[in-house]
Amino acid sequence: MIDHGKEIPVGADEALARLMDGNARFLRGEPCNSLTPREVLANLAKGQRPYAIILGCSDSRVPPELIFDAGFGDLFIIRVAGNVMSPEVWGSIQYAGAHLKSQLIMVLGHEGCGAVQAAVAAKFQGVIERSRIEVLLQNMLPALGDIDPELSTQQQLEHAVEANVRWSMSQLLDSPEGRARLAEGRMKLVGGVCEIATGRVRLLK
Ligand SMILES: [Zn+2]
Repeated sequence: MIDHGKEIPVGADEALARLMDGNARFLRGEPCNSLTPREVLANLAKGQRPYAIILGCSDSRVPPELIFDAGFGDLFIIRVAGNVMSPEVWGSIQYAGAHLKSQLIMVLGHEGCGAVQAAVAAKFQGVIERSRIEVLLQNMLPALGDIDPELSTQQQLEHAVEANVRWSMSQLLDSPEGRARLAEGRMKLVGGVCEIATGRVRLLK
């Protein structure tokens, strides 16, 4: 049985390579299924050491375990519409970093995101949503400051998806905790956008 409490954490660069290799396997339709879920779960009963933290959208079309061909215990995933930051999301990420020793954080947006689309509609067309959705959108509006109002709605959405990923990343970076962890050089923060039609994850530069 693996003792996950003593297992050496996977480094951030290795974690990113695993994610992108997994996405490549998913795109080729060649998932890695070396162990049955029952065997994997038996190994994980004592603890977990997920190699990456994913902040992704709740959208049913972007399940991180599938698009990264990852298994039980591999990914610590927080999913919330629009992959937005909040104190609870923050606490979850900090827990995974501090206690589970995950060293890579990926903020994962996706094409055609309904939450981003609603935020764009609120900003440029004054659309008003129901109260709880409004709270969500208010969280996202700062991401849209640089979106050109002259672009088509489709182009605005494409730009906004990326801007929204960067906005969540900047909130993580612009905190004393975020700066401290990244300054140590141990943890890494990356942004990605999943192409809905193909499942390909594109890393943001
Ligand atoms: Zn979405």
